Amino acid sequence: MPVHFSGFIKTVLFSILIGCCMLAYNTSAAQVTVHEPTLIDSTWEKPYAPFRIVGNVYYVGTYELASYLITTPKGHILINTGLSSSAEMIKRNIEALGFKIADVKILLTNQAHFDHMGGMADIQKMSYAKMMADAGDVAVIEDGGNSDYLFGGHGAIYQPLKVSRVLHDGDIISLGGMKLTLLHHPGHTKGSCSYLFTVHDAKRKYRVLIANMPTMLDDVKPEGMPRYPNVGKDFEYTYNAMPKLKFDIWLAAHASQFDLHKKHKPGDQYNPAAFVDRPGYNKLLNKLHADYLAKVKR
Ligand SMILES: [Zn+2]
Repeated sequence: MPVHFSGFIKTVLFSILIGCCMLAYNTSAAQVTVHEPTLIDSTWEKPYAPFRIVGNVYYVGTYELASYLITTPKGHILINTGLSSSAEMIKRNIEALGFKIADVKILLTNQAHFDHMGGMADIQKMSYAKMMADAGDVAVIEDGGNSDYLFGGHGAIYQPLKVSRVLHDGDIISLGGMKLTLLHHPGHTKGSCSYLFTVHDAKRKYRVLIANMPTMLDDVKPEGMPRYPNVGKDFEYTYNAMPKLKFDIWLAAHASQFDLHKKHKPGDQYNPAAFVDRPGYNKLLNKLHADYLAKVKR
């Protein structure tokens, strides 16, 4: 009967499809089916004009999801990529500044969530750059978020990448005279981290911090979670470590966290002084810590 027949055909087609997917998965470990969470905020994808922040550090991200390009004579470092749909835009932003995506040699992230990792695999294909990551986030990056302690368990939510170098607190990432120190700031993810380094411009040198601000998401239980028993202890470590850092300029994974749009308007002249803002850093850290303590109390 036609109904059964079409059902049979569907079953056969489905089996072939599954077979092909598994074949694709087996032959190319990098390409898996991804279910990226639906967009939470339209500013996450909204294009934004790239600009020079300080010295050889450039903003190449979207309106809200920050990506940073650090250029050197030996190639470039890219930190964070936004959603998968933003990979092309980041490439165009890099080119608009006069640099080449093929010269990106090292890929880093502040945290292995999809809003900072979504475009990473595509950027890697364009550049052949090596992914380096904090030890705590390696497993999550390599399974596309499936082992994330909060969002995991539903398959890949971003395209996985192989991590070429595993980093620990205090490790140095060197390229073309730049030396970035990785600072392990766990809690938001197990391998959340910040980067601290010195840059120069014609006038002076600056200590720059690209910070992962320790936001505790709603579903986190500070007393411990099945896939992250030490989550509370890790957040406390981070709330204690971050206020002690010394820097001139701070930036973060989300533009709204460091008030990018109050400090810079597209077309503005080069003005690193706009990003010298210790009070803004302290204020946000204090707020996040207070939120955490209020949650522990409840
Ligand atoms: Zn996150």
